[in-house]
Amino acid sequence: MKARKGRGVERPATLIPGDGIGPEVIDAAVEVIAAAGGRIAWDVQLAGKAAFEKVGTAIPEPLLASIRRTRVGLKGPLETEIGGVGYRSVNVALRKTFDLFANVRPIRSHPGVRTAFSGVDLVVVRENTEDLYSGIEHTIAPGVVESVKVITARASRRIARFAFDLARREHRRTVVAIHKANIMKLSDGLFLACARQVAKGHPRVRYRELIVDNACMQLVLRPQTFDVLLLENLYGDIVSDLCAGLVGGLGLVPGANLGARHAIFEAVHGTAPDIVGKNLANPLAVILSSVMLLRHVGQRRAAGRIERAVTRLLREGRHRTRDLGGTATTSAVTRRLIALL
Ligand code: NAD
Repeated sequence: MKARKGRGVERPATLIPGDGIGPEVIDAAVEVIAAAGGRIAWDVQLAGKAAFEKVGTAIPEPLLASIRRTRVGLKGPLETEIGGVGYRSVNVALRKTFDLFANVRPIRSHPGVRTAFSGVDLVVVRENTEDLYSGIEHTIAPGVVESVKVITARASRRIARFAFDLARREHRRTVVAIHKANIMKLSDGLFLACARQVAKGHPRVRYRELIVDNACMQLVLRPQTFDVLLLENLYGDIVSDLCAGLVGGLGLVPGANLGARHAIFEAVHGTAPDIVGKNLANPLAVILSSVMLLRHVGQRRAAGRIERAVTRLLREGRHRTRDLGGTATTSAVTRRLIALL
C-alpha cells in the first residue's frame, strides 16, 4: 500500500476501463472517488475488445496478475461478440478464474426518479459460475445444436448460503428462490433442493419459491413485496435487467462479483453501443458500484459521502442524463456530483 502526503494509506485496486461507454463512466467514477476522499491506488489494465485490439488477447496475463495482487477491481463493461466464433465472454472467464461465485445487485428506488413504482428495495443474488454459462455447446448434426446447463450441489448450496447470510446481515426478511423446476426437473430441481436445505438452517429468514415466469409477473405487479432474490446464472441475468427497469433503468443499478478472496465491482449495464462517445452515458451505476467497492475495502466514510451526494443529485433533478429523462451530459452529472461532495 502507498501513502500519499495528507491522504493516508492508499488501497491498491485494479481498474478496467472496459469497452464502449466503459472508459467514460469509469473516468467519472475515479474522479468522484478521489473527490470523496477515497484512498485507492489504481492499477489500470486493459481487457476485452480494447485488449484484443492492442495485444491480441482479450484477457492479458498482466490483467490477471493485477487482480491476483490487488484482489479487488472496478470494471467497465466488456463487449462480447453475439454468436459467431469470436473470443468467449471475458466477464464469464474472469468470474470463473477468480471464482467470483456471487453476483450481488441491489435494486432500490431513488427519490426524485420518476418510475412506475416507488419503495422498491430488493437484492438480486445470482449464481455466477455455472448454468448455461458453462460455455459447453456442440453441434450434434447439421441444424442441431446442444447447450449444456451445468448445475452442481456445491455451487447451489454455496450461493444459497450467501443469500441467507446476506439476508441476515442486512436484516432482510425473505429469500425467494426463482426457478423453472417444473420443466428442468433435474437441474433446477437440484438448485431448489439445495436452497431448501440451506433455508432450514435459517429459521428467522422466510423462504419462498417462485417459478421464473410467475416471478417476472409478480415483480412488475408488486415489486415492493420482494426482498432477496436467489437465482441461477441465466435467470439472474435476465431478472436483473427487469428489476433495473423497475427503478429507472440500467443507468442506476450497481453490482458486485464476489468470491472468497477476490471481488470485482461493475454496473449491471453493458457497453451501450448506441451512445458510445457522445457524453450521454449515465455514470451513476458505475459510481454506485464504486460505493460498494469502497465499503468492501473498509472506506465507509467516502462510500457514505458519495451515496448521499447521489441521492441529493437525483432529488435536485437538474442534472440528469437522457436515460432518466434529462438532458445533462456524463461530464455535467460528474461535475455536479463532485460539487455536492
Ligand atoms: P447494454 O446494457 O449495453 O444497453 C442496453 C440499453 O441500455 C441501451 O439502450 C443503452 O444505451 C442503455 N444503457 C446501458 N447503460 C447505460 C448507461 N450507463 N447510461 C445510459 N444508458 C445506458 O446492453 P446490450 O446492448 O444488450 O449489450 C451491449 C454489449 O455489452 C454486448 O456486447 C454485451 O455482451 C455487453 N455486456 C457486457 C456486460 C458486462 O461487461 N458486464 C453486461 C451486459 C452486456
